[in-house]
Amino acid sequence: MPSFIIHIMIPLLVLLALRMAPARVALLMLPFTLIHDIDYWIGTHRATLHNIFVVLPALFLWYKWRNEPPQRATYAGVSAYYLASHVFLDLFAGGVVLLYPLWNMNIYLNCRVLVETATDTIIPTCTTELGRGAPTVVDVYTWISPFEISIVVWSLGMLGGLYALRWYRERDT
Ligand SMILES: [Zn+2]
Repeated sequence: MPSFIIHIMIPLLVLLALRMAPARVALLMLPFTLIHDIDYWIGTHRATLHNIFVVLPALFLWYKWRNEPPQRATYAGVSAYYLASHVFLDLFAGGVVLLYPLWNMNIYLNCRVLVETATDTIIPTCTTELGRGAPTVVDVYTWISPFEISIVVWSLGMLGGLYALRWYRERDT
């Protein structure tokens, strides 16, 4: 299951790379990438806040404000984008009850690409798994995986290197 690091970084980097919104707005609205997981403590995890009905109000506001001066529409659009990204990412990682509370069925898109190393054969697999109610919460959960730690270390290293380089260049001027 994606950790908060993936939920924050992937939508943010895509947003910035595609220049869909100013960086200031993209950073300010980042909490919208994570508010779904409040249902871990309140309600039913992967159901109460992991559904399309959480996304619709922000989408509605973006649509309503789309022809007005861009500021409000940008905030609403980025919120909708972040809200949708969380639900979408979790769809591929254990699943979500997408239409909760109307339809209490977990939808999990179980997709992966395997490589049979003996023959170097690539085997893509993708199945849709439906299950009654929200997925069960495991007793021990990998909150941050080694892969995600490597992403954070790499990103912070690059950021630190960039600032060090800027500082070095400005020191000479
Ligand atoms: Zn989640």
